[in-house]
Amino acid sequence: MSPRAFLKYMNFQRTNHVKKDAYPGGGVVYWMSRDQRMADNWALVYAQSQALEKKAALSVVFCLTPRFLDATQHHYGFMLKGLQETERNLESMNIGFTLLFGEPTAVLPAFLTESNAGLLVTDMNPLRHARHWQRSLTPILGIPWVEVDAHNIVPVWTASQKQEYGAYTLRPKLRRLLPEYLAEFPPIIRHPFSPATAPQPAAWDRAAATLRVDMRTGGSPVCEPGEAAAAAMLREFIARRLPGYETDRNDPVLDAQSHLSPYLHFGHIAAQRIALAVEEQGETPSSTSFLEEMIVRRELSDNFCMYNEQYDTFDGFPTWAKLSLNQHRNDERTHHYALEQFERAETHDRLWNAAQGEMLATGRMHGYMRMYWAKKILEWSGSPEEAMAIAIHLNDTYELDGRDPNGYAGIAWSIGGVHDRAWFERPVYGKIRYMNANGCARKFNVDAYCSRFGTGPL
Ligand SMILES: Cc1cc2nc3c(=O)[nH]c(=O)nc-3n(C[C@H](O)[C@H](O)[C@H](O)COP(=O)(O)OP(=O)(O)OC[C@H]3O[C@@H](n4cnc5c(N)ncnc54)[C@H](O)[C@@H]3O)c2cc1C
Repeated sequence: MSPRAFLKYMNFQRTNHVKKDAYPGGGVVYWMSRDQRMADNWALVYAQSQALEKKAALSVVFCLTPRFLDATQHHYGFMLKGLQETERNLESMNIGFTLLFGEPTAVLPAFLTESNAGLLVTDMNPLRHARHWQRSLTPILGIPWVEVDAHNIVPVWTASQKQEYGAYTLRPKLRRLLPEYLAEFPPIIRHPFSPATAPQPAAWDRAAATLRVDMRTGGSPVCEPGEAAAAAMLREFIARRLPGYETDRNDPVLDAQSHLSPYLHFGHIAAQRIALAVEEQGETPSSTSFLEEMIVRRELSDNFCMYNEQYDTFDGFPTWAKLSLNQHRNDERTHHYALEQFERAETHDRLWNAAQGEMLATGRMHGYMRMYWAKKILEWSGSPEEAMAIAIHLNDTYELDGRDPNGYAGIAWSIGGVHDRAWFERPVYGKIRYMNANGCARKFNVDAYCSRFGTGPL
């Protein structure tokens, strides 16, 4: 495929020119970070199109940081296994893969110089650490740098240029733009240009020793990592669970969700591929409600983290919510638990303990229970700030899909009214939407859920 043919697929709104220096010659390097896959990856598509045009070698580099937010050995294990598969896929296309050990700000500049890179491409990540890497590296690098939104279907900066109030304000914008963006991907082709020196083989056996993370935490894995496993999960979801998604997705006893969130989080599959596959099934109430979650809600989370630097703190809440929570700051709590009691699922509430138990045992919690779980942390903590810190720490430590914009937005929705509206006033919550166990009992079989995951007092 010629570079021109290749580029006809690519909508250049997906790119953001971080650094516009002139191309000095040399190879094209894709610094892979958030989107850890070869297939259906707009950052790699763009990098290959540039390398073909420049008749240059193409390689991928990944920086393995010794720690990452609250990630544990469980998350690193999942990620490293997925990356090994991506390395094999890339090598079969004559695209080199290099694994660097250390913070990108420390190891990337030297690598780019040593490998004679002339253009850097990376994938977009709205979270603070990635923005910090970008700010620190921009003045140091002497080559052009292009960031590509390979995660969202409609690029986050195209969908909206400001923080949206809620799904109701983002949805019409996405609907208008989706026909332009929800298109087929070009395949990655065998790259015709090789580097002067082959990259060092990745030292996977050294990786574990470089980590400075919690080596104890992590339940038994619920799914296999990697691009092939993600594609298999999508096929299984479409065949078995999609038909009942609309009616059953909010019932934690039924297995009706897609289980795709870890794959989306680590970038093992593109949201755009999932949307194309679901659309192919035809329009049904289930496909519509799944695409609402997977496109609108997910892309709203990236919008929130992109445009609200306080996405994980009390200061990131809307003004009405901060005012109301401040008015109820000194309300008496019926129960007050420390982080360790929450962590060990030792509250008085068997339903809450079962939700925490599900997360401890499997590395995931049913989507409906996540809302109840976070709201009760607000109810039983000393302050909304304490509740945010506890919920984020537990979510990021135990959920396989944690450390993600969806998590920060979901927690801020539950505790701080983000993307929600004011409800009736009540103690502690103020005007934040309330949930209780009786409401859950009206929706699903609480006994069945508790008997499956319950660990705490009955
Ligand atoms: C307190 C709280 C914490 C959360 N933490 C995380 C987290 O750490 N990581 C994470 O990916 N999601 C999080 N969510 C969102 C949602 O609960 C999960 O994405 C979903 O349960 C994952 O299971 P699934 O892939 O089977 O979902 P499905 O129901 O099959 O949905 C498909 C996809 O749509 C997206 N999606 C679904 N619901 C939401 C939502 N409410 N907000 C944004 N995107 C959504 C996800 O990408 C999901 O994988 C959280 C929600 C709350 C209320």
